[in-house]
Order: sequence, then C-alpha cells, then structure tokens
Amino acid sequence: MIEIRGVHKSFGHLEVLKGIDLTVAAGSVTVILGPSGSGKSTLLRVINHLEKVDRGHVRVEGELIGYRQVGTKLYELRERQILEQRRDIGFVFQTFNLFPHLTAVQNVTEAMRGPREAVQRKALELLDRVGLADKAASYPRQLSGGQQQRVAIARALALDPKLVLFDEPTSALDPELVGEVLDVMRDLAKAGTTMIVVTHEIGFAREVADTIVFLDEGRLVEQGTPAEVLDSPKHDRTRAFLSKVL
Ligand code: ADP
Ligand code: MG
Repeated sequence: MIEIRGVHKSFGHLEVLKGIDLTVAAGSVTVILGPSGSGKSTLLRVINHLEKVDRGHVRVEGELIGYRQVGTKLYELRERQILEQRRDIGFVFQTFNLFPHLTAVQNVTEAMRGPREAVQRKALELLDRVGLADKAASYPRQLSGGQQQRVAIARALALDPKLVLFDEPTSALDPELVGEVLDVMRDLAKAGTTMIVVTHEIGFAREVADTIVFLDEGRLVEQGTPAEVLDSPKHDRTRAFLSKVL
C-alpha cells in the first residue's frame, strides 16, 4: 500500500532522514514514536511531497509521489499534479489549521468537488461521524481545541483519502480534551482507515497500532508490534526513550 524506500532528506548540512525504509499495509495503523528532532514530522511531510526527498522514493498504492519515472530518470511532477496526489492523502496537524473565517461545515467542504447538495450532505455525515453534527455552523473560535481537531479530522476524510497522516494530533490540547480526539481516531482505525500517526500517547499506540516504529536521529531503529516494541525493545535508544514517556 505505502512503500517508503531509502529515503534521505537533508536541510543544509543537517541530515534529518538517513535512509528510511517502511512498508504500511492497507487498512493498518502505524504509530511513529521518537524523540523531538528525530525526523518524525519530516517523514510525514515527505510522504505527501510537502518536502522533497534527496534520495529514495515513496509510493502510495504503487503510484510514485511527486515524480514521474521515465526509464531510469525521475522528473518532478508539476504543482497541479502534486496537488492532485495530495487529495489522496489526508493530513491532520498538531495545530488544527482550520480556516478561521469558515464554519465547521465550510472547512470540511472546502476542497470537495461535486454537486453542492451531495457535498453538503457528505460533510454533515463526516461531522456526525466525529460527534459534531450540532456544530456545523460554528466557527473555529467558537469551538474547543478538541472540537477543532475533530473538524480537522472530518476535513482530512472529506476526499476519501487512501491514507491519513496525523502529526501529534493531541499535543496542543488540554489534557481533558485528548480523549475525545483519540476516540475518533480509534473509530477510524476500526473502520479500516490506513493511518500513520506520530504521537506520544503510548496507551493509544498500544491499543490501536498494528505496527510501532521508533525513529531516532533520522533512522528507524526498531519496528514491530506494540508488544514487541513497548514490552521488549531491542535497542538501548528505544528503552531510554520509553523510560521517559511511559
Ligand atoms: P520531529 O518531528 O521528530 O520533532 P522534525 O522532522 O520536525 O522532527 O525535525 C527534524 C530536524 O530537522 C530538526 O533538527 C529540525 O530543526 C530540522 N528541520 C525540520 N524542518 C526544517 C526546515 N524546513 N529547515 C531546516 N531544518 C529543519
Ligand atoms: Mg514533529
């Protein structure tokens, strides 16, 4: 489903991703753990070509992201084609990133195409799915952080993405609002949504992840089931990290 192969990425002299290989099965949940600065956000951003790789490639359902291959040569896609590919990949950010001047339902419909009535109906269904049917006409400033993040999740689902990326979706929330967002994510996972989630919520990872990967200094040092990675980590780096967050 998603194939990340040999991905390298540097910013100036700083090599942030040092050869990442990761396969994500359709319908599975992959949780990425790792210390601050280890490259987690960069890895997510590479998957939808918000960052260009220096080497390696990403494929989603066989389709090369950001490039077209002709023989052995790669040509970067045009902006319009890149935007088209991004429509298949939902992205939920730490800071919600809703449009402040649009209502909840307008935020969800913003990128949708098709007959107005069908678009509206689908957006309301999505808001219902995240428990916000009654907030469709509210503006972001009238919603709690947890509610805003649930609108952002509804928006990420609006285009029926093949994959949804979450970058620390609960890190900016007050502790009492974390649960409602994790509940929505748990429901998505149960419904078979393919998800890659960067989070420090170890309880969520243990319960929901099919695979946990541990990223440290730009390398995937460990990957396995929650039991393997959380209960019997093989690497000192993983053990040291877990001892701080558990
Ligand atoms: P994480 O999400 O694991 O905290 P990031 O992927 O955000 O890590 O960042 C990894 C490293 O890359 C950090 O040292 C960060 O400062 C650096 N970095 C990230 N984005 C950029 C950028 N656009 N320009 C320069 N350095 C960056
Ligand atoms: Mg980050």
